[in-house]
Amino acid sequence: MGDWVYRFGGGAAEGHAGMSAQLGGKGANLAEMAGLGLPVPPGFTIATALCNAYYAGGHALPDGLDSEIDAGLRHIEGITQTGFGDPENALLLSVRSGARASMPGMMDTVLNLGLNDETVRGLARRGGARFACDSYRRFIQMYGDVVLGIESRAFEELLERAKESRGYLLDTEMEAGDWRRLIVDYKALIRAEAGREFPQAPREQLMRAIRAVLDSWMNARAVTYRKLHGIPTDWGTAVTVQAMVFGNMGDDCASGVAFTRDPSTGEATVYGEYLANAQGEDVVAGIRTPRPVSEAARARDGSEGPSMERAMPRAFAALREIMARLEAHYRDMQDIEFTVQRGRLWILQTRAGKRTAKAALKIAVDMVAQGLVSEEEAVARVDPLALEQLLHPALDPDAPRRLLARGLPASPGAACGKAVFDSAGAEERAARGEAVILIRAETSPEDIHGMHAARGIVTSRGGMTSHAAVVARGMGRPCITGAGEIRVDREARRCRIGDRVVAEGDVITIDGAEGALFEGAVPTVEPALSGDFATLMAWADRARRLRVRANAETPEDAQTALRFGAEGIGLCRTEHMFFDEARLVAVREMILAADADGRRAALAKLLPMQRADFTALFRIMAGKPVTIRLLDPPLHEFLPGSEAEIARVAAAAGVAAAVLRTRIAQLRETNPMLGHRGCRLGISYPEIYEMQARAIFEAAVQAGGEASALEIMIPLVATRRELDILKGAIEAVHRAVAAETGAAPAFSIGTMIELPRAALRAGEIAESAAFFSFGTNDLTQTAFGISRDDAASFVGDYERAGILVRDPFVSIDREGVGELVGLAVERGRGVRADLKLGVCGEHGGDPASVAFFEKVGLDYVSCSPYRVPIARLAAAQAAIARAREDGSVRGDRAA
Ligand code: PEP
Ligand code: MG
Repeated sequence: MGDWVYRFGGGAAEGHAGMSAQLGGKGANLAEMAGLGLPVPPGFTIATALCNAYYAGGHALPDGLDSEIDAGLRHIEGITQTGFGDPENALLLSVRSGARASMPGMMDTVLNLGLNDETVRGLARRGGARFACDSYRRFIQMYGDVVLGIESRAFEELLERAKESRGYLLDTEMEAGDWRRLIVDYKALIRAEAGREFPQAPREQLMRAIRAVLDSWMNARAVTYRKLHGIPTDWGTAVTVQAMVFGNMGDDCASGVAFTRDPSTGEATVYGEYLANAQGEDVVAGIRTPRPVSEAARARDGSEGPSMERAMPRAFAALREIMARLEAHYRDMQDIEFTVQRGRLWILQTRAGKRTAKAALKIAVDMVAQGLVSEEEAVARVDPLALEQLLHPALDPDAPRRLLARGLPASPGAACGKAVFDSAGAEERAARGEAVILIRAETSPEDIHGMHAARGIVTSRGGMTSHAAVVARGMGRPCITGAGEIRVDREARRCRIGDRVVAEGDVITIDGAEGALFEGAVPTVEPALSGDFATLMAWADRARRLRVRANAETPEDAQTALRFGAEGIGLCRTEHMFFDEARLVAVREMILAADADGRRAALAKLLPMQRADFTALFRIMAGKPVTIRLLDPPLHEFLPGSEAEIARVAAAAGVAAAVLRTRIAQLRETNPMLGHRGCRLGISYPEIYEMQARAIFEAAVQAGGEASALEIMIPLVATRRELDILKGAIEAVHRAVAAETGAAPAFSIGTMIELPRAALRAGEIAESAAFFSFGTNDLTQTAFGISRDDAASFVGDYERAGILVRDPFVSIDREGVGELVGLAVERGRGVRADLKLGVCGEHGGDPASVAFFEKVGLDYVSCSPYRVPIARLAAAQAAIARAREDGSVRGDRAA
């Protein structure tokens, strides 16, 4: 074992599955499988460190690599009894990328490397002239594309022309002589485009292919994919060089992909697809529609042609046994690539299979039942963000619908939008806020932007493991593949289905779970939260320490929050209750009043409405904690903007338009985010908070036994004095209500920490506050000195420049905002050990941020109702991770 190269094959390996940081996922798992004695073609993996060295050294390869590659080649030659460049019995290689995290199709691969004008003759003697020439032309094409940068399409055009001139429809009609002539054309194309001959020396081919794979780490689609998935650039890619096996040597050969469980539903069946007489890339590329591996699946979909189980029973039996072995070994659902060469099975790759959220839950729960994993491991494995797929509506089963076409159910979920036929169009329309469904013949890695922008994806070609299917499942987009009745006309921006035409902009609905495409918009229903979902969430609830509340103010939101398992309301934004048309009149009257008496008169009209809101909320929450925040936004937000509106509002409020205009001018703020809002309003206009406090207390009295644990929260506080003044006023109202009603509802008063100054003054504020709730939205705005809306225009540039890793308004910025939170926790708890601590900014529903809040020791997170299950699972994972770090639970090593 040297610095860079790790060999595997022949029943042994220099690496193992735990080395994915060094060898990439593919290299580590190949080593693991070779070590287990599985049939893996021998090879070697060049470590990811080389990728970093390559970029650090200005694209130079380090000394010593050459001799390690020599040793690697000798290792493969020894096992396969071939020679690299040997004209009679040439070793042929695949050169593949492989990062620590799977980046399907984002980087480059070269196959059949080692072929040249001489070795192709030897290959012909072993595998037939047709096969050998086809392999050679495939190699020239891939090499031309990947290494020399000549568009694949140029080669495809030559192939199309060759077929046309001979009157062929299919590649399979091409004969040895046809391929040989095409090879001459391919070489001429390379000479013309690259200004040099196609290289004949195998070693030169290999070194240039290795460089090309390293270069592909920085290609545009890989960079985008990493950004979307939060994969750091410095992870680098490994390069795996491996002996070729051929799935295209004849009818006793095949290539395929198999999952140990159904990646859409999680069902424990042998699930997979294969293509007879085909090379591996043909299956995932989705050009020919592959057939089911198992006979049961074939019978279910009723397709013609034999399953692998029927066509190659021995290879199928071997595959089934290895699948079971790999799943038990890895204790997770595996996604396996295989090749059958002359009846013999070879495993080319295994990895944890991507799956839908529904499948993830079922697999996790089933594996616990099978005793393969613990409840805790099951909880740790499900991606919290993937739950989103299950929390959103599905098609209403009772709603009428008109079926347009059927395809394969490649990724579940329902989506409705306007049809688009290219990725650029999908992006453009999505940027304008339109929901779109991308319809393509097939997708390729270039479509990743368009797929991300679309609500759903439909392809007319390809199977359940096509590019479109795999990427859509990973992104959580509903997807239908292989909808063969659809004839896509990309140029004309429309498709034809039988005698019907869907043009760009036409609204359609897709159901990815059914694989069905419908005309128009089909209504949807809320999901059921039972079964595996409920089971896993119960385990999560047992594992977590953080409590999870919801941000809600309407009865509907509060009910949704409860359904999703919220343990209280962490933020009731009372201003939202003011925006109702009827109330806005009274709010404006209050703002326009000449003095405190006038304001009180207007507020008196609002009081019963607010009281009714709170009573309803308390009853729904039935004893669970409810944090009510007093009025926060600056008053101008309640006033009209346009002249027409000003005239209308002035008339309704019974004041002259000029008076209203003057008041608007007085209240206008240059920077409302930093303006006359929150507790500052409470200090200027005490009667507003007095009315709100009265509404809260009277509601609590009315709700009686059903009243919730009541927390009144003051926004935008920065000093203890602000809090003391407002607290005094609220307590006075409480005494008054108690005197009037004879009931004194329990309550506590706390504050938001959403200004850097508040975080710094947290010690003295805690002397007066019973709780803190971190308003990380405002805290991020004020720490960064930019409003959330304006941030959208620069965050992308900052990410590209490496200044920011993540959008700080999505995931808490640990170095700035997070440090302020940590400081406030320390100072606050230093003064008041039982200070209750929560967060109610958007970050409360972001898994990475939840992990941070677990670490700093908050008591709860509060997020939007739809995020509650995500936060519950994230909180459980954070607690499990923390316990593992603390060593109180022994981490389970990857087998
Ligand atoms: C916050 O600032 O984080 C917060 C929850 O308040 P708002 O978003 O209403 O300003
Ligand atoms: Mg705020």
